[in-house]
Amino acid sequence: APVLEIQNLRKEFDAFTAVDTLNFQVEEGSFFSILGPSGCGKTTLLRMIAGFQEPTSGTLCIRGRDMSEVPPNRRPVNLVFQNLALFPMMNVQENIAFGLKRQGVGKDEIRKRVDAMLERVDLTGYGKKNISQLSGGQKQRVAIARSLVLEPSLLLLDEPLGALDLKLREQMKIELKKLQAEVGTTFMYITHDQSEALVMSDRVAVMNRGRFEQIDSPRNLYANPATRFVAGFVGETNILPVSVVSRSPLKVVTSFGLELQATQVNDSSSDELDLFIRPEAIILQHDGGGDDFNRFSLTVRNILFDGSNTKILATIGASDYELTVALPQNEQFAHIGKGDVIDAGVHLSSCRCY
Ligand code: ADP
Ligand code: MG
Repeated sequence: APVLEIQNLRKEFDAFTAVDTLNFQVEEGSFFSILGPSGCGKTTLLRMIAGFQEPTSGTLCIRGRDMSEVPPNRRPVNLVFQNLALFPMMNVQENIAFGLKRQGVGKDEIRKRVDAMLERVDLTGYGKKNISQLSGGQKQRVAIARSLVLEPSLLLLDEPLGALDLKLREQMKIELKKLQAEVGTTFMYITHDQSEALVMSDRVAVMNRGRFEQIDSPRNLYANPATRFVAGFVGETNILPVSVVSRSPLKVVTSFGLELQATQVNDSSSDELDLFIRPEAIILQHDGGGDDFNRFSLTVRNILFDGSNTKILATIGASDYELTVALPQNEQFAHIGKGDVIDAGVHLSSCRCY
């Protein structure tokens, strides 16, 4: 059953539409992310769900109950802010107990629930510590514990990892995903970072200019982006401008005269399209594969080795267009050098036109 149902939700600021007629549901117990660039309306959406911002129109229901007349402090949701907003004058357990105290929960009950929460987020023994004594990751966990202890139907997280350094962010991603699975609370997680959204989520809504372009599993978003925006925003991709030669089956030609079989994704009737190819869809030293493969030659211009992955930058055919190719972990390609000319192939289903 959906824990959150949103219908025709809109928010206008004067003439500007920040959230544009959204319709979606979030399943109970899932990790749901909203992924989009800065300014696309993510925080505004979250603030409407939390009740801090009144919608211009539309409805939102939590566990089947319409929230329009319910003030923020009565909504069964909790918000973890970007800057965490912990109380620096209180110790860890006082921070976690804060909301329970305000609700008038009894002392013994508070102690029991705070201790259980500390254990859940791996901070047993840290109750009496000051916030300033904690590492970034520990503060993070206190902020989440402080929200989860109130047992919300929905935990809203607004770019909570934004302030952390890269290494800690990588670690917290995994911890958050684990924590969500353990507690079973529905998480609605906002981020502009595609890797956060892909790694943690059951479903991801890709947001652009106040609208959702696609709601899907991480795997499908990457493999079958529904729109040009999603194709460009989620994952690395090569983009070549092409002209249509014929339709059904689709054939296109690049400005430097390379003909390619391709797959048209949206229903654009324009004859000028952009061709998207993922770096790992390009297969080197390709000679088999049948008629469904496009073949071309690549000239290696640069090799980017980062320890676990190797990519090459290579110009295609006789052109100056540079493609990024992700190499498989394979000794066969260890000897590739600058200037090498290599035959390559890409399946027509991996040549997606928008
Ligand atoms: P995001 O969280 O995705 O970065 P926001 O929801 O914060 O985006 O903002 C979306 C757009 O709405 C931005 O262009 C922002 O300037 C505008 N906006 C947000 N809040 C207000 C407000 N209170 N008044 C006017 N414009 C606002
Ligand atoms: Mg924001």
